[in-house]
Amino acid sequence: MIIRDRYAPSPTGLQHIGGIRTALFNYLFARSHARGNESGRFILRLEDTDRTRSEDIYVQNLYDTFNWLGIRWDEGPDTGGEYGPYIQSQRSDLYKKYAQELIGKGQAYYCFCSAERIEEVRKQREAAHSSESGYDRLCRSIDPPEAARRAGSSEPCTIRLKIPLSETTRFHDHLLGDIEWKNDDVNPDPVLLKSDGFPTYHIANVVDDHLMKITHVLRAQEWLASTPLHVIMYRAFGWEPPEFCHLPMVMGQDGKKLSKRHGATSIDEFRKQGYLPAALLNYIALLGASYEEGKEIYTLEELAQRFSLEKLNKAPAVFDYKKLEWYNGQYIRMMNDDELARLCLPYAVEAGLFDEETHTETQRREGKIEGRQPSEKQYEVFLSSMSLIKERLVFLSEAPARITYLFNEPKIPPEEEFIPKKCDLSKTIELLQIGLELVRPMAEAASDEDAENLIKAEAEKRGVKLGDLMMPLRVAITGSRVSPPLFGSLRLLRADRSVERVRRALNSLNG
Ligand code: GLU
Repeated sequence: MIIRDRYAPSPTGLQHIGGIRTALFNYLFARSHARGNESGRFILRLEDTDRTRSEDIYVQNLYDTFNWLGIRWDEGPDTGGEYGPYIQSQRSDLYKKYAQELIGKGQAYYCFCSAERIEEVRKQREAAHSSESGYDRLCRSIDPPEAARRAGSSEPCTIRLKIPLSETTRFHDHLLGDIEWKNDDVNPDPVLLKSDGFPTYHIANVVDDHLMKITHVLRAQEWLASTPLHVIMYRAFGWEPPEFCHLPMVMGQDGKKLSKRHGATSIDEFRKQGYLPAALLNYIALLGASYEEGKEIYTLEELAQRFSLEKLNKAPAVFDYKKLEWYNGQYIRMMNDDELARLCLPYAVEAGLFDEETHTETQRREGKIEGRQPSEKQYEVFLSSMSLIKERLVFLSEAPARITYLFNEPKIPPEEEFIPKKCDLSKTIELLQIGLELVRPMAEAASDEDAENLIKAEAEKRGVKLGDLMMPLRVAITGSRVSPPLFGSLRLLRADRSVERVRRALNSLNG
């Protein structure tokens, strides 16, 4: 089987979850057929027919996003291919030619109505509470030679498609089955070519899918309403339509279409928060498709091996931010420390982790952060700290805050933070004094296990709870009750610095 499918975004906004899901499914579908004597090609086509809303920054965002995600197309504006150009604004002449072809076939006509007249019709209908909407087909009755003469004499005009009256358009959707659409419910005679000679989305989309030999159109369900019109156009040209598969909607937890109200939707935001591309792709691949019972982690290759249109679900997919976080955590834990450190480094530099001074929120806001690169020694500590935080990290961007105490002196927290349950201040001071003696041997111990044995033995000897002994020590070392593992922290801070922190804490507690 030969599959040619495409992602056909309009560069009028940032790439978001819905678009990436469409792109990914097309990518996987093509890949799933790109083996043996089958063939699968995934194509990128820029649908920039809306000249006022299309912007270069969005084209750049598209390239950056897919680069970051590691998804490549087989044919596209930057890759080239047999069926280019792959940017619609560079194909204007083609659309003109094909619009003319429809006129020649009696399937389209010139319309000379001004925008004002069309608006007037709309208002009159509204006032009369008419159920009719759209264009009133006035110019459909102009004699074609007369219309051609007027168009030829440069009278401003558009070209409209003749929607066959009182018929029903039928087509098959892979997921939704047979679909019937009364032509009365199709926008009456939509414009194909605007008066400036630019095409509308519909004709450009149909002509390109045909000329680029697209076999399958997998697109968001919101385009379903345009499909009858497209099918009518394919028939008007005498072309075979591609197979359609309208993908299930992506909803927020409240059942409404996923939008900014639910949280991040643009891929840029996820990227900044420190999501990993593989985690994001893995999760998005499951939005509206099920693969193997019980298996949740898939590489792109594994997804491509398993993908088929039969695995798509009809029901809308619900976007679960918590689940995506879970995926990210899983992927972080699968990474080795070198890789994780490399990915966390830009966040750490940006947070000023290596500036050697602790930044307050205000300083941060005022841009006092220098964003220094780590020294060799700092990087060594940074790299080693990865194993301390990896188990609990959800986003890369969280890393600097978790390990800042390894690089900057933490503020000494208020007294109550040090005091374990059922203890008082003097007992806490006593515990911390025991801790002080332990810090050096623990920091210098050969392993975490040795360090743990030391403190355990001491707790037993003194008849205190291990937890009670550790808590004030943890607060003194890390500045917080909740922190990465204590033994590893002591090892990275080293004995002198650790001892110093405990002394500082004791001084403060002793008032
Ligand atoms: N340009 C349309 C979009 O922005 C493409 C729809 C389609 O795939 O046919 O989504």
